[in-house]
Amino acid sequence: MISEKMKESLAGSSVIREMFDEGHRLAGIYGAENVFDFSIGNPNVKPPEKVKTVIKQILDEEDANYVHGYMSNAGFEDVREAIAQDINKKNGLNLSFKNVTMTVGAGGGLSIVFRTILNPGDEVITFAPFFGPYRNYVEDSGGKLVIVPSHTGTFQPDIDALESAITPRTKAIIINSPNNPTGVIYKEEAIKGITELLTRKSEEMGHGIYIASDDPYREIVYDDVEVPYMLNYYKETFIVYSYSKSLSLPGERIGYVAFLPEIDDADDIEICLSNATRNVGYTNAPSLFQRVIARCLDESVEVDVYRKNRDLLYNHLLSIGFECAKPEGAFYLFAKALIPDDVAFAKAAKKYNLLIVPGSAFGWPGYFRLSYCISYEKIQKSLDAWTKLANEF
Ligand code: PLP
Repeated sequence: MISEKMKESLAGSSVIREMFDEGHRLAGIYGAENVFDFSIGNPNVKPPEKVKTVIKQILDEEDANYVHGYMSNAGFEDVREAIAQDINKKNGLNLSFKNVTMTVGAGGGLSIVFRTILNPGDEVITFAPFFGPYRNYVEDSGGKLVIVPSHTGTFQPDIDALESAITPRTKAIIINSPNNPTGVIYKEEAIKGITELLTRKSEEMGHGIYIASDDPYREIVYDDVEVPYMLNYYKETFIVYSYSKSLSLPGERIGYVAFLPEIDDADDIEICLSNATRNVGYTNAPSLFQRVIARCLDESVEVDVYRKNRDLLYNHLLSIGFECAKPEGAFYLFAKALIPDDVAFAKAAKKYNLLIVPGSAFGWPGYFRLSYCISYEKIQKSLDAWTKLANEF
């Protein structure tokens, strides 16, 4: 009785679902403490203490009907203005509340951006390896996802491959840096290569190409590496931001979309993003957490916890023969499997209670992804299992 399209999605999610179930099964047999689940990107660093304080303050001090009530679909105006001013302060820009729409996380943000810009059959390009749900966000908005490889090894964007993939139907490209699944940060040189190409192609084709900059990991950066802020490089950009990782609030579903006042059709875009929020059925981003994050704009999580995890795992994996680009941000590591079949490799890892995601789930077979947002002690305990796995091949 269910839709054919949703049936296809069952097949698409089966690898990760299988692993998730397997994790529970293994935990039942060996005890949760002996299962090394590197599969899911759920932050283990606590949200800043201020989040809790501010929640209590809001509930105690503000009018309940206001805090929990409907507001305009784009969000509370004062919250949008606070975010606009925060972006301006950090990046020397001139946004106002009109250029910020509150969203249900980055996932909700990408969905409303694609609903706002895509006509049926329009193409959206992503660099592989890529976050799998991009396909759903694009296709559910009537578009087609086009996949372009990154440079193997460095996982920096391949600009020549991008140029070959652009057609008259290209409407947008997605940039995700720091990247899931590789942890790589795109160098400024690559960003300039992309924006120069898009500017030239837009002129040639007589219509613009947007950038959707998917930024949930913007603050999860190590070793003082700079992450170019796309609004400073390209006018037709949507920043899609989320507090899921930067404040460890993934279940609260809060983020925003921001764009320059100078973007073409700025007024229409503001209204369409707002309408799309209503059309997808979200109506508005969660009201309490809009108010919370407006008071927590200077807060951050303890990124050094992730940095230590990265160092421990990366150094160990390299020492036992794995190949991977050193992650500079996010909390993922993308390594080459020790056999070409990444799904078989993930199955082999399960024998040692190591749960990993095959690279094919990110459009990049032959590799696997680790989420290292788990405790340092758990990672330490897993090192032996990694060595045993490597010795098997
Ligand atoms: N984009 C990327 C690259 C992600 O890794 C995630 C979540 O893991 C999302 C978007 C969705 O984030 P949110 O939880 O804010 O919807």
